[in-house]
Amino acid sequence: MALKTPQEYLDSLRKLNLEVYLFGERVKDPVDNPIIRPSLNSVIMTYELAQDPKYAELMVVDSHMTGEKINRFTHIHQSTDDLVKKVKMQRLLGQKTAACFQRCVGMDAFNAVYSTTYETDQKYGTEYHARFKKFLEYVQREDLTVDGAMTDPKGDRGLSPSQQEDPDLFLHIVEKRADGIVVKGAKVHQTGIVNSHEVLVMPTISMTEEDKDYAVAFSVPSDTKGIKIIYGRQSCDTRKLEEGTLDRGNPKFGGHEALVIFDDVFVPTERIFMCEEYDFSGMLVERFAGFHRQSYGGCKVGVGDVLIGAAALVSDYNGTKKASHIKDKLIEMIHLNETLYCAGIACSSEGHPTVAGSYEIDMLLANICKQNVTRFPYEIARLAEDIAGGLFVTMPSEKDYRDPVLGGYIEKYLKGVASVPTIDRMKVLRLIENLTLGTAAVGYRTESMHGAGSPQAQRIMISRQSNLEVKKQLVKDILDIKG
Ligand code: SF4
Ligand code: FE
Repeated sequence: MALKTPQEYLDSLRKLNLEVYLFGERVKDPVDNPIIRPSLNSVIMTYELAQDPKYAELMVVDSHMTGEKINRFTHIHQSTDDLVKKVKMQRLLGQKTAACFQRCVGMDAFNAVYSTTYETDQKYGTEYHARFKKFLEYVQREDLTVDGAMTDPKGDRGLSPSQQEDPDLFLHIVEKRADGIVVKGAKVHQTGIVNSHEVLVMPTISMTEEDKDYAVAFSVPSDTKGIKIIYGRQSCDTRKLEEGTLDRGNPKFGGHEALVIFDDVFVPTERIFMCEEYDFSGMLVERFAGFHRQSYGGCKVGVGDVLIGAAALVSDYNGTKKASHIKDKLIEMIHLNETLYCAGIACSSEGHPTVAGSYEIDMLLANICKQNVTRFPYEIARLAEDIAGGLFVTMPSEKDYRDPVLGGYIEKYLKGVASVPTIDRMKVLRLIENLTLGTAAVGYRTESMHGAGSPQAQRIMISRQSNLEVKKQLVKDILDIKG
């Protein structure tokens, strides 16, 4: 079975025995928890679209290892065409969910670990690549969702992993056994972990020899003994516990992040993909970050499409659609959104083969892509708020709207254009609230800033890739300056 149906995916998640905590209590059934469920619905969409022949070209691909049809989220990119299709797939998913659909972190981790293990083996004669391929075949065959786990808590940012007062602030090896290793530490901001079958752990920064215990990569099932998941809060999250769906803004979809503790977790040898090869941790980090910076040129653009659509629709409902400044603001939003997409597509079509034969993005352009993402969604959100008017943060609740007496006043006084039902106007305003200030603002705004690395991380990469000497030489050539 290489493509799971949404139902099969749900059934497989129910079989996991995850240790998830939310509001101080263990969650008995994460699949049916009302706070978590919208994020699960977003991941389900990655399975659902793969079943639809209309989207087969983007969602389904032949495995380069087995030749089987697989979901692109488990694929190793074999060409620039694959890289471009990845971004298009992510834009599509963003459009369908208006949320983070979580499955990209695993896909980006597969591609980074695939090429890095190959090069590690070349230097050290290790067998990580073969092990990883075996694991990946299992992932593809079972159509699994995998959490790509990179970010450590990091403690004092001025100190390296081994210099920290508390040695667990970066995940590390605490014991080596004949049959595997034991690791301890944590990963923060873990996207989609509760909806994942496996967690694929990578180091978070480049390391030196003193930090070799921290240079570790592996995958284990997400319900492995010792893994504890503490679910992250989001603005307005408890609205999902209320009756009705209007006040949620996005009634069906969402995303999530969590703090994941690894409390002496055992990793069997066949699942270890890096073990003390500290000189390859930087390569792995750069590649994963590069792929995820490319990803944002797809997913954030898809969510941006929905936000632009919401701004346009609410201007119809407000009766402002003919105002020239509204038209101009919508044009500006589109310009910014498509500029993000341009960089996502450009870094993909300018991609190149790795030593392992898989394809990776152009690193400079992927970092430019993400640097733009740290800015433009904020401006797109600002313009959406401008067009919407203040009502999206002052509107009464759904409960008031449903009240037999109060509802009449709300219906009457919150009406915009006479032919549009008030409830429709309220729905769109709540969606704008959700995307700019509510649960989805995690994915659309703050994650645009910090996800796949904070802005300064991209600026360091841009500086490294900028090749200023070549540019200076251009000037010298034009001006006949020698030496
Ligand atoms: Fe995918 Fe975007 Fe979510 Fe990252 S933020 S997992 S790229 S949807
Ligand atoms: Fe992300």
